[in-house]
Amino acid sequence: MNNKDFLIGNITDGIDKRIVSELCQKYMENLEGCNGCDYEKYCLSNKCRYLNWKLTGNMSKAAGVVCGFENIKMSVT
Ligand code: SF4
Repeated sequence: MNNKDFLIGNITDGIDKRIVSELCQKYMENLEGCNGCDYEKYCLSNKCRYLNWKLTGNMSKAAGVVCGFENIKMSVT
């Protein structure tokens, strides 16, 4: 809300399906540097692209801090 990067419409004009489609496509892009990682299936950085956007400014870029956390979490389980 109140972020023009993710604005898909308004109650007056409705939803812009082109923007929704572009955002969905961006959300599905593979993360840079995560290809083949053992934790890919469970990793928060891979599951939540909005988290990446918030932390790195890029939805398709893994957040280093989350990557580190996932590695610690998996090493103790
Ligand atoms: S742990 Fe790191 S390399 Fe593996 S999927 Fe997550 S962000 Fe990518």
